Amino acid sequence: MPNSSRSLQTQPTERFPTLTLHPNREKSVRNRHPWIFSGAIAHWPQELEDGGLATVSAANGERLGYAYVNRRCSIAARMVAFGDTDPYTAIRQNLTHAVAFRRKHFDPAQTNAVRLVNGEGDMLPGLIVDQYADVLVMQISTLGMERLKPFVLETLVELTQPRAIYEKSDIAARYEEGLTDFAGLIYGRDFGPLVVTEYGLRFHVDIKHGQKTGLFLDQREMRALVERLCTGRRVLNGFAYTGGFSLYAHRGRAQRVVSVDSSGSALKLAQSNHALNGFSVTDDDFVEADMFTYLRRLEAAAFDFIILDPPALARKREDVLRAGRAYKDLNRLAIAKVAPGGLVLTSSCSHFVDEKLFGQIVFQAACEAGRQVRIIHRHRQAFDHPVNVFHPEGSYLKSLLLSVD
Ligand code: SAH
Repeated sequence: MPNSSRSLQTQPTERFPTLTLHPNREKSVRNRHPWIFSGAIAHWPQELEDGGLATVSAANGERLGYAYVNRRCSIAARMVAFGDTDPYTAIRQNLTHAVAFRRKHFDPAQTNAVRLVNGEGDMLPGLIVDQYADVLVMQISTLGMERLKPFVLETLVELTQPRAIYEKSDIAARYEEGLTDFAGLIYGRDFGPLVVTEYGLRFHVDIKHGQKTGLFLDQREMRALVERLCTGRRVLNGFAYTGGFSLYAHRGRAQRVVSVDSSGSALKLAQSNHALNGFSVTDDDFVEADMFTYLRRLEAAAFDFIILDPPALARKREDVLRAGRAYKDLNRLAIAKVAPGGLVLTSSCSHFVDEKLFGQIVFQAACEAGRQVRIIHRHRQAFDHPVNVFHPEGSYLKSLLLSVD
């Protein structure tokens, strides 16, 4: 296993086979975009194995940096280091920066559930690490990162001294890489359900059985905004999961909060999260239902604030048309049903529905609902989910806060 003390800086060119790009295909790499598509590669060295590291050279022989590779993928190589920096040194630096950035911006007494590593956004392609109190959850989406796992694990342990690291690599992207799903403890002692804090609110987190890594951390800043806008309002939290937005709405002194989700187990946790924070609720405040059906049957003006945070409705590019119709239906119903002067917070976390398309969908929904709608706030994913400016593809979540007259 490579370790941090190994001095790798000497003659790095000799350590990895060299992958050469076609003439004029090095521009995006020079611009520090981490992806290299298979069509850009002129020469694959024979000894280079899928998942292994390679030196990346321009057609003129200039070294551009280092990437891990996988011939079976259309993104055939992902850069882990640029210029002369040794790849292990770069990975270590990037992990160190990622952890330091979160330490700087979060007070663990207030918020101890954060995304520590956000893939390409932290220049660590294929790697997601979320921290829940003293437990880390790691998600690996590429073969190259899978090969680097021992080094990454060792470095993370050194940087954060966690009680445990649980791997939850259960994403479809792994299949294209030739990997299968994996979930299990990879470091430390086993653990049960945890309680974490987000802006002073407490959440039960079930890492092993919950969705994603346990919580949807990317909406944290939107949840905080909702708190400020809820006083005296009747709030409908659609796609509530474990009640994130609902807890903030209660703290913001909403008149009533109803949480709707199709998952009974998520709603159970939502209910216990309310108890954990001392908010008094009744069973009627939690509705296990399909949100589309719920909205269709909803009496008009029953709520002053409707929150829509659906799962990714387009998971592939081919899904976009169908997903667009679903997003439009959802938004049309919410806009039509919210009380006059009310608010709708609408989100899409589908990468393939970009901000422009999402705006068009909301425009169409507003037209069909026949209401006057104004955008009063726009939001992207929370700031512990940074987007590398050289890799705009890392931006996926967008939210619009609408005022409906
Ligand atoms: N807003 C939440 C995260 C939502 S994740 C938070 O802040 O934590 C999306 C949720 O939508 C999941 O809990 C999933 O169970 C639920 N869901 C998926 N399809 C649904 C549907 N058709 N109707 C209602 N809920 C649905």
